[in-house]
Amino acid sequence: MLDQDEINLVLDKPWAADGKHFSERIWGDRRAELVQELNKSLRKMLVTGENPVKLAPEIKKKFNVSERQAERLLRTEDAYFAEEATYNSYKECGTEEYEIIATLDYKTSEICRDMDGKHFPVENKKTGVNYPPFHPNCRTTTAPYIDDPELTEGDTRIARDSKGKNYYVPANMTYKEWYESLDSEERAAFVKLKKQDRKKKVDKSAESGIIKNIDVDDLDLAIYGKDVDEEAVKIIKKHFVDNSLADGYYINNISMKSIQIEEENEKEKGRPLIQTIAKKRGNMYETDIVLNEDIFKGCSIEVLNKKLKNYKNNIAQTFEEAVIHEVGHAKTIFSNRFRDIETMYKKLEKMGVDGISVIALNDGAEAVAEIEILLHRGSVIPKQAKDLYDNVMSGNFEI
Ligand SMILES: [Zn+2]
Repeated sequence: MLDQDEINLVLDKPWAADGKHFSERIWGDRRAELVQELNKSLRKMLVTGENPVKLAPEIKKKFNVSERQAERLLRTEDAYFAEEATYNSYKECGTEEYEIIATLDYKTSEICRDMDGKHFPVENKKTGVNYPPFHPNCRTTTAPYIDDPELTEGDTRIARDSKGKNYYVPANMTYKEWYESLDSEERAAFVKLKKQDRKKKVDKSAESGIIKNIDVDDLDLAIYGKDVDEEAVKIIKKHFVDNSLADGYYINNISMKSIQIEEENEKEKGRPLIQTIAKKRGNMYETDIVLNEDIFKGCSIEVLNKKLKNYKNNIAQTFEEAVIHEVGHAKTIFSNRFRDIETMYKKLEKMGVDGISVIALNDGAEAVAEIEILLHRGSVIPKQAKDLYDNVMSGNFEI
């Protein structure tokens, strides 16, 4: 039986990789109310051993969120509880090291694929960093680490094929080794399943009309199997995913696809690396990010940086600065999400700013995004430019 203090301890403990508690990230200022509700619900669930997902309809109704959000919250909190209990037992039994055990199927996130098979001293355990859960909906768990091949000989672990059938592989086989052992047909089936899941997710959230912020999982899914440079992923994660709400913007969806340019005059501007798009949903605008597959695929961070360095029309000198430029666009949309953003953009087009870059000269919306880079650099910003930036970011920009 868990008491109130123990429940509070779990609910208040920041475990997410970005240091922000999952529930706080998703629920914002309704969190206090939610914690109260969860204290009741989670307690019931923990005492009766019921499946947490059963409580989702209640949470959904009470907080007017999607079923998916409610389920994810409950499942993640439940995983957190379970993993904490295991950790306590390691301490009690004097276990020195634990090993990360991910699920061997197509759903497993990139983070967990990478962590699978790694082992860490119990005393260095850091939830969300080297101990699960690593992300919302994380299914990864741990076991005591045994550093003796004789003791583990003949041990097996479960894997699941693309048809959902379970089978056994040697216990010491890591996710990577397992994945490499699959034939190309099976791997293609995995990619297809992952894509279908992704589509279902997006359809579901569009259907409910409740907009979610993207999370690490969504980014993993968007780039899955597309050979994107690890360093580039880290930068995208840092700027687009981790602290987006806290930093004053909000990304609804992230995807990677080939961006074709049809208009002749657009061709001269060069192919876009990343597009930040304002999408109308109901009477609100939300932000979607599209990464251009044609450029990202198989392109190292060094090459990405080099491409940007030679580009004369804007001030971004590195891939990171190009991402920060897009953050500027995302902030613009978020600050004005209830307005007619297309009309605002049209008006901004006539308000270019001198002295920053070619694109800033021709378009105020681009000027605002360029200023985002200058702010990040800590550079001096011309007064006219700063005034425009503040005006747009305040959400009071006159249409
Ligand atoms: Zn731009």
